[in-house]
Amino acid sequence: MSDPNERGDLRRETLAVRAGLHRSAFDETAEAMYLTSGYVYDTAGEAEATFLEEVDRYSYSRYANPTVTMFEDRLAALEGAQAAYATPTGMSAVFAALGGLCAAGDRIVASKALFGTCYTVCAEILPRWGVEAVFVDGTDLDAWREALSVPTKAVFFETPSNPTMTLVDIAAVSELAHAAGATVVVDNVFGTPLFSSPLQHGADLVVYSATKHIDGQGRVMGGAVLGSLQLITDVVRPMIRVLGLTMSAFNAWVLVKSLEIMDLRLTKQAEGALAVAEWLEANPLVSQVFYPGLASHPQATLIARQMTGHGTVVTFTLDTDRAGAFRALDALEIVDISNNLGDTKSLATHPATTTHSKIPEAERLALGITDGTVRLSVGLEHPDDLIADLERAFAAVR
Ligand SMILES: *Cc1c(COP(=O)(O)O)cnc(C)c1O
Repeated sequence: MSDPNERGDLRRETLAVRAGLHRSAFDETAEAMYLTSGYVYDTAGEAEATFLEEVDRYSYSRYANPTVTMFEDRLAALEGAQAAYATPTGMSAVFAALGGLCAAGDRIVASKALFGTCYTVCAEILPRWGVEAVFVDGTDLDAWREALSVPTKAVFFETPSNPTMTLVDIAAVSELAHAAGATVVVDNVFGTPLFSSPLQHGADLVVYSATKHIDGQGRVMGGAVLGSLQLITDVVRPMIRVLGLTMSAFNAWVLVKSLEIMDLRLTKQAEGALAVAEWLEANPLVSQVFYPGLASHPQATLIARQMTGHGTVVTFTLDTDRAGAFRALDALEIVDISNNLGDTKSLATHPATTTHSKIPEAERLALGITDGTVRLSVGLEHPDDLIADLERAFAAVR
């Protein structure tokens, strides 16, 4: 058989199980796990040539490891990216991209609706090193236009946002960003590799927390940065290799196998999410439902243009206070209370007191996160069982 990695005509389903497969001399069927930190040379001269970068081979697993390469190549094929680096967590992927792009005196423009820790990187860590951070309402193109009217190094946003599922117009913001000289970095965790392809809409780098939908079964931490060969080589590679933001071979092995069935999981989970969202929208205790698959989403036109599916996370606001929301969560018998998401097990979060508790109250309310807001990451359970569980939970609200 010809090498699937050399062919450009394969479909997504085929790439999910074939791309990036590099077999060893033992001709194993499944991807091998190379638990090795170092590599050996036949001759001292070969070691010298490796360090002179005259030969391209594995030399040390902080730089590269065959199992990690398999995960990177498969994810890059699914994303339609020229190159990728895997990282130990999503946050190290974010830092490899933004830290690699920015130096003292540079300026970054970011959407306000960021994952809490991503917000801290932009609002606290980068400014400590002399990078100016400007935040805008990601849905407001005029705000982007004004913020990008002066030279800027990087633009960073998440779409759809956590937890209220607002979209940023990737093509429009990328155009403004490029005119300002900026590189566009998109956190695509909520978009997922199946339902959103930022690189195809003009973004330059995509970052993932592989901990979420890519693993999808709540086992390992991981992350990735994807983009053009030039950006990955010039901007990301030094950060990974020098700072040691390297994924372990074990985690890469779990994740490369996860990619084989990621699309199947996410398609099924998104079907369940839509069923739950529609049920929630018809429930009198629910004052608002945030899900890109609902016709009532205020950005339905942009969703149709920019997404190929609607994701697995449904956020809703219960018409109650904090105590009522807690009573509902505590009454769940199937859905677990967790701050994680993207799992095959459905998980419920109270953002105001956990993931978004560090955001000042006024800002949090402006983002649409009240004491009655619940984020539900829909798993692979039957949607009717989830709806029955929610019915039980809602009965405990009053
Ligand atoms: C979880 C998450 C991250 C951080 O990923 P880790 O794997 O926890 O480091 C970044 N962005 C978003 C949107 C996330 O949900």
